[in-house]
Amino acid sequence: MTKTYHIWTIGCQMNEADSRHLSSQLEALGYRRTDTAGEAGLVVLNTCVVRQQAEDKAYSRLSSLRHEKRQNPDMIIALMGCMVGRREAPALKQRFPYVDVFMAPSETEPLLEFLSEHGLYDPERVLDTRDKALRDAIQDDEFSLPAYQRGRSVTANVPVVLGCSHACTFCVIPYRRGAERSRPPEHILREIHKLTEQGVREVMLLGQIVDRYGTDLPNGADLAGLLRRVAAVPDVHRVRFLTSHPNWMTDRLIDTVAGTEKICPHIEIPVQAGNDHVLAAMRRGYTVDDYRRIVERIRNRLPDAAIHSDIIVGFCGETEKQFMDTYRLTEEMQWDKVHIAKYSERPKTLAARTLPDDVPAVEKERRRKMLDDRQTDILEKKNRALQNRAVEVLVENRYKGKWRGRTPHNKWVAFEDEGDWHGKLVTVQVEKTRAYSLTGRLQGDTGVQHAGRQP
Ligand code: SAH
Repeated sequence: MTKTYHIWTIGCQMNEADSRHLSSQLEALGYRRTDTAGEAGLVVLNTCVVRQQAEDKAYSRLSSLRHEKRQNPDMIIALMGCMVGRREAPALKQRFPYVDVFMAPSETEPLLEFLSEHGLYDPERVLDTRDKALRDAIQDDEFSLPAYQRGRSVTANVPVVLGCSHACTFCVIPYRRGAERSRPPEHILREIHKLTEQGVREVMLLGQIVDRYGTDLPNGADLAGLLRRVAAVPDVHRVRFLTSHPNWMTDRLIDTVAGTEKICPHIEIPVQAGNDHVLAAMRRGYTVDDYRRIVERIRNRLPDAAIHSDIIVGFCGETEKQFMDTYRLTEEMQWDKVHIAKYSERPKTLAARTLPDDVPAVEKERRRKMLDDRQTDILEKKNRALQNRAVEVLVENRYKGKWRGRTPHNKWVAFEDEGDWHGKLVTVQVEKTRAYSLTGRLQGDTGVQHAGRQP
């Protein structure tokens, strides 16, 4: 059995973080990564079911793996993530008998157990080992980068709140990721220290409702306090957090973002709909006016903040008039980015059980496109104001001969230069602007150790 693994990941940043955790554990056990599933002794599918489309992609991967396994019966197949959730494993086992292991989101133990049962790793040896790195990778709740990302990944996603207990009527996540729980700050900080030793300079703290961080922890822990501690880690240049729920956005949090240079002025605070009836049917827990007031509070303290939103079009019973309220709210809010999704009925959610999915598919698509086109116009116009401005960029990678990175406001910027700027904070003079990217000319190293406040 070759000790090679392949991980296929789709879905949210949380899944990316879960895949990173599992990869670093497997590498500590001597597994090497391969990009080709067919060559791997172990294939992991890290799945997403937030919309039907994502679920369908996982099914199609599963069926191609069935053929691979016929060719190579020793191949171990592990299914992970929201498709498995906490309760779906028995039904999935019946449907896909060739899958060897099922793992709930963020839980890697079933695979480690399977490997030890099959003599592919010896937990006793790990416990005895003097190799601290190996012990840490297997036992701790802090994960470093897998080898292939070390020295390469400039940014990393770090889960701080697992699960969700809010239960919006459309959303399957609480059913699949379990109840909300915050990770202890010490674990998070140790993980971030490790990540910076391996080259990471920007961390994104993750939670379904990240602004609820700490509500289940002692000593008044909260996101504002955690952000400050993360920003104090010397090699961290930037910190971001995602996703905020309007009801938990405190002034203390906004003031912390405004008063701590390394915390990027970038707030993802989804509205989901611009009509009170639709919001009530979604059980979001706020009205459109509440949302307006929260954005006003943010903009009063952080006038240039980049505010992002998510929107669902075609939710159960959404009328043309209600959709137009969302459309007008989009014009009013001038968000810096909007993720627009067509409503997709999800099993067991309250909406699936009690409300008809009655907006026709073509109509959902029309609404999505109309909103998307409007938002693109808004961004084209907004970004034009950045022309000839100097922006700070943390360089993440090189693509098609151009260096690329993001500003503190999360705008992608590309520039050409022969130097090695990987992982560096630089200043770029913006020359060309588009809705979703900027290009410019390198002015040089910023010479600072932290994120600045320019757009
Ligand atoms: N916890 C975050 C969202 C997590 S899911 C929040 O409270 O906003 C990411 C996005 O997927 C959501 O913001 C929503 O816009 C979209 N989404 C979730 N369930 C969906 C569904 N059933 N159909 C379509 N989009 C959905």
